[in-house]
Amino acid sequence: MAFPVTRLRRLRRTERLRNMVRETRLTPDAFVYPMFVCPGEGVRKEVRSMPGVFNLSVDEAVKEAEEVRSAGVPAVILFGIPEKKDEVATGAWADDGIVQQAARALKREVPGLVLMGDVCLCEYMSHGHCGIVKSASLAKSLGAAVRDTLTPSQSALAASNTKEKTKAIEKAASAVEQAVQSGFEIDNDSSLELLARTSISLAKAGIDVIAPSDMMDGRVAAIRRGLDEAGLINTPILSYAAKFASGFYGPFREAADSAPQFGDRRSYQMDGANIREAMREIELDIEEGADMIMVKPAMPYLDVIAAARDRFDLPLAAYQVSGEYAMIEAAAKNGWIERDRVMMESLLSIRRAGASMILTYYAKDAAKLLA
Ligand SMILES: [Zn+2]
Repeated sequence: MAFPVTRLRRLRRTERLRNMVRETRLTPDAFVYPMFVCPGEGVRKEVRSMPGVFNLSVDEAVKEAEEVRSAGVPAVILFGIPEKKDEVATGAWADDGIVQQAARALKREVPGLVLMGDVCLCEYMSHGHCGIVKSASLAKSLGAAVRDTLTPSQSALAASNTKEKTKAIEKAASAVEQAVQSGFEIDNDSSLELLARTSISLAKAGIDVIAPSDMMDGRVAAIRRGLDEAGLINTPILSYAAKFASGFYGPFREAADSAPQFGDRRSYQMDGANIREAMREIELDIEEGADMIMVKPAMPYLDVIAAARDRFDLPLAAYQVSGEYAMIEAAAKNGWIERDRVMMESLLSIRRAGASMILTYYAKDAAKLLA
């Protein structure tokens, strides 16, 4: 039946009707609130690029978590900003690590709240990478790399005008970059042990769900084995299975102080162009024992969320990341969009794409609107 018999507008006439035929609903039960815990007492430091999001000392994190729970949000995910960083990420797996301290306090003070623990090494490594860095021996010095790239007539010294000079400098810079890139490697297998050790330590401190975000191959299996051997057979793993190398993580790196000091994360996080590879990543994590899977970021990868929902039956999480939040906040601050409306629409889109759970900095605010 086509028009004029069929008129889809009939069911859009009133709010009651629209509400009855609504296909997708948001509920606070689906939200997970990310928190950044730092050393000290009484610390509540706003992240510059994420208004309303704070670095919190343990005592302040307890207050924040109480607010989260009373808004009806069932879970938080904890990230740590350690006192010191080193080459073996001691702060990630030490018994008195910052997230371990927070987990103990939250278990005691805010019972009932589900505690998820992000498992990665970048926040605790002096170099800011998510695994152990090994230096592949440099085939040649940086100077030699530049000399080999530029003929003497192309060098900045030989340049006769500003344009040529700029070009020469750019070319030299990219040669240095390439040499540095080939000069180190994030070592997969040796990182697994630290990830497992971190997971055991977090679970012992009271973390209910272990959420590895490092993107090393084989880490879910290594963590599962570690947890089981430690007798932690009931601790589930939420794997950041398809985590893309993304420009949308910028504000997070400020919040967690975890920007890589050299190179980038493209050798372990996924290429944003690859949805079939994302399915392979998820499939492997499920085989290795993941209890839940995650796609990250959310809005630029809604098709990946939808494809994963279609193909896999595990609970599926999506992370609305810092850059997604920062864009909405910035536009709203300028009066260019209606903040609350766009916030809810963005969350709805992630839910509609198929996410059972949404990790979002909007968890509290959205839950309050839904109440
Ligand atoms: Zn990391």
